[in-house]
Amino acid sequence: MSLEGVYDDGNIFAKIIRGEAPSVKVYEDDEVLAFMDVFPQAKGHLLVISKTDKARNLLEADPVAVARIMAVTQKLTRAVNAALQPEGIMVSQFNGASAGQTVYHLHFHIIPRWRATPLGHHAEGMADIEELKGLAAEISAKLDK
Ligand code: 5GP
Repeated sequence: MSLEGVYDDGNIFAKIIRGEAPSVKVYEDDEVLAFMDVFPQAKGHLLVISKTDKARNLLEADPVAVARIMAVTQKLTRAVNAALQPEGIMVSQFNGASAGQTVYHLHFHIIPRWRATPLGHHAEGMADIEELKGLAAEISAKLDK
C-alpha cells in the first residue's frame, strides 16, 4: 500500500481500539493505547497507538496526537528498561508497505534488544498469550504512577 490512501476503519488496530478484537494491554488513557505485539520480534515487543487520530501513517497524523503517542512511548520505553533490563531498545515506525508497514493505523514499535538474540521476523510467529500477559504485567508495574 502506498503512502496515499484512505484510512480503513476495519484495520486490526481500529478493531482493538473498539474492543472488537482482543489485545494484551500494557497502558491506556483517553487518547493512547499500548499493547503487546502478538507476533513479537523480541521478548517485550509492544506497540503504541492513538485511540483518537485516524491516521494511517506519520505523514498524515495530527501533530498533537503524535506528541501524546511519543510521550507515552517514552514512558513505556523506560518501563520496558526497568522491567526487562535489555541491552538496548529499538523504537521504530514504518510508513507504507515499501518501508515495511503492514497495519495502516499509525503505531510505534518498542522492541527490547539483547546482543546474543537476533531480531525475529517481522509480523510472523504468534506468541503465547499467557506469556504476553505476564510481560505486560511486568512492564506496566514499572510505569511511573
Ligand atoms: P507494521 O508492520 O505495520 O509496522 O507493524 C504491525 C505490527 O502489528 C506487526 O509487528 C505485527 O506483528 C503486529 N500485529 C499484526 N496483527 C496484530 C494483532 O492482531 N494483534 C497484535 N497485538 N499485533 C498485531
